[in-house]
Amino acid sequence: MTPGPERFARARARMEETGVDALLLSVGPDLPYLTGYEAMPLERLTMFVLRPTGDPVLLVPRLEAPRVADRGHFTIETWDETDDPVARVAAMVGAPRRVAIGDHTWARFVLALQHALPGTEFGPANAVLAPMRAVKDAEEIAALERAGAAVDAIAAGLRATAFAGRREIDVHRDLVERMLAAGHERANFAIVAAGPNAASPHHEPGDRVIADGDLVLCDFGGTMDGYCSDITRMFCVGEPTTEVRDAYAVLAEAQEAGVRAATVGTPCEAVDAATRAVIDAAGYGDFFVHRTGHGIGTEAHEDPYVVSGNATPLVAGHAFSIEPGIYLPGRWGMRLEDIVVATEAGPHRCNHAPRDIAVVA
Ligand code: ZN
Ligand code: ZN
Ligand code: ZN
Repeated sequence: MTPGPERFARARARMEETGVDALLLSVGPDLPYLTGYEAMPLERLTMFVLRPTGDPVLLVPRLEAPRVADRGHFTIETWDETDDPVARVAAMVGAPRRVAIGDHTWARFVLALQHALPGTEFGPANAVLAPMRAVKDAEEIAALERAGAAVDAIAAGLRATAFAGRREIDVHRDLVERMLAAGHERANFAIVAAGPNAASPHHEPGDRVIADGDLVLCDFGGTMDGYCSDITRMFCVGEPTTEVRDAYAVLAEAQEAGVRAATVGTPCEAVDAATRAVIDAAGYGDFFVHRTGHGIGTEAHEDPYVVSGNATPLVAGHAFSIEPGIYLPGRWGMRLEDIVVATEAGPHRCNHAPRDIAVVA
């Protein structure tokens, strides 16, 4: 299913289920998911207005209208520099009881719309669209597979490169370039964390020079043909210590347990519990400080979240990361991450790069 009428119809069905009279989308991933058009994240308002009936309308600044490729599935209206686009949106929706507004919409526009529609209850578009976006069809899974294969090749290629003597930021830039060269339209992140820096799960790569004996965490991903990649692999300059090897064996077993648990019908929180049980049993439970994973699609992090408290059962087409980690403050950190799709035939990995610690120069 591609952006356009089929997705509008499904969104309208969800609006009816959730009692929403108008869906308002601006910047962020919901708009391209429904329409194929991505708004520029600027101060001029772009807003897609979907009501239960009638033509969907995309209101865009006149100067951005030429960027809109779709000329058939919705009406394009433009506003001029001296118009009030918020008043235009308010006039389009009338006096709805409830609207759902895109989660990434700038607060200034939300506030102005709330002021213009004083009798209207505002809720998150996420409640309408997230369950739809979370279940991927065959084309979307194929896109996730292609993005996964691209970062797999990069992770495999890194095993033959030298790390020692380079700064984290140098490896970071290398990863960004490799992602773009491999066909990603953008690199979303490239965490490179060496030695004790890896104990911070979202470490910002810096000037630390990678040294002999360092365990290095590389977690990188980007967007390719609209769908995201995300992979974490570990590298060690020289042979890892026995402690690191033993802990990594626990981590790899935990990750495998999480993937195996990710069958259709299993609640997300049970998948989280499966990885956590292995790490807890080995005594590292206090050092696994984040959820097991996140959904992935047009956004790097989206529903469903693989976390304690999320009882949502997996359905075929859910795509998510399984990425347990162990982080010893001041010493080292490790994480192992693959993207997995739940299918009727069982969990299916989108990443196949070697999962052992790569010993590098
Ligand atoms: Zn993360
Ligand atoms: Zn990651
Ligand atoms: Zn991730």
